[in-house]
Amino acid sequence: MKKILPLFCLCITLFACKNNTKESKIIPVKEIQEEPIEPSETEVWKPKPPIVSVNISTKIPSDAIVLFNGSNFNEWTSAADSTAVNWILNTDKSMTVKDKMGDIQTKRNFGSVQLHIEWRSSKKIRANGQNRSNSGIFLQNRYEVQILDNNDNDTYVNGQVGAIYKQAIPLAKASSETGNWNSYDIIYHAPKFNSQEKMALPGTITILHNGVLIQDHVSIKGTTEYIGWPKNSAHGKAPIKLQDHQDNSGVSYRNIWVREL
Ligand code: MG
Repeated sequence: MKKILPLFCLCITLFACKNNTKESKIIPVKEIQEEPIEPSETEVWKPKPPIVSVNISTKIPSDAIVLFNGSNFNEWTSAADSTAVNWILNTDKSMTVKDKMGDIQTKRNFGSVQLHIEWRSSKKIRANGQNRSNSGIFLQNRYEVQILDNNDNDTYVNGQVGAIYKQAIPLAKASSETGNWNSYDIIYHAPKFNSQEKMALPGTITILHNGVLIQDHVSIKGTTEYIGWPKNSAHGKAPIKLQDHQDNSGVSYRNIWVREL
């Protein structure tokens, strides 16, 4: 019996090994290995992206529409009645909101855009909260990116500088010192509406403020209302509007260009 037991164990072990070997043969080794391919098989050659060059001195892309370069208001009109712009044209290639002269807007209509715009708050501090250098950029005449002098000037954070007004708090406050120039680089994708004029895809906004990401592909909920909730009604291309907040804001703008997307 003592001699039979080890022999029995050996048989069991051999049987188990044989079974394991069988199972390992089931794995389709060939299927889990990719067939070797040439590098060229994953290369795409068309369509070629269009060539866009950037002016070394102005930094404006060659395919951009210049909306304001300090020379005139040719691209702009009064938002209220389409008459001539009544804001102040400065000698340093900027313009300044003329108090209570109303919003201005582009003569052209735009949908999705890349927008570059520079703005400066008033050097002189004239008020607090929402009344200190308040202006704004309304994309498609509806969706406001807030401009405000927030330096040592708290307000509700969904209405602070760089907010999508009352909808999206900015990820950071990247303002320059009061009275100095700021830049906004905005990537805006217009909302899409279906045949029943209901929103099929919300618009989105991404913003770099002085090069800092402050809005990251944020979905727009609708119009940016001062009172009440966002509204959504179908619309097509529309002007870009700049706000006269009517509180002697003293906000200036310069170097505005746009690329249609
Ligand atoms: Mg505003």
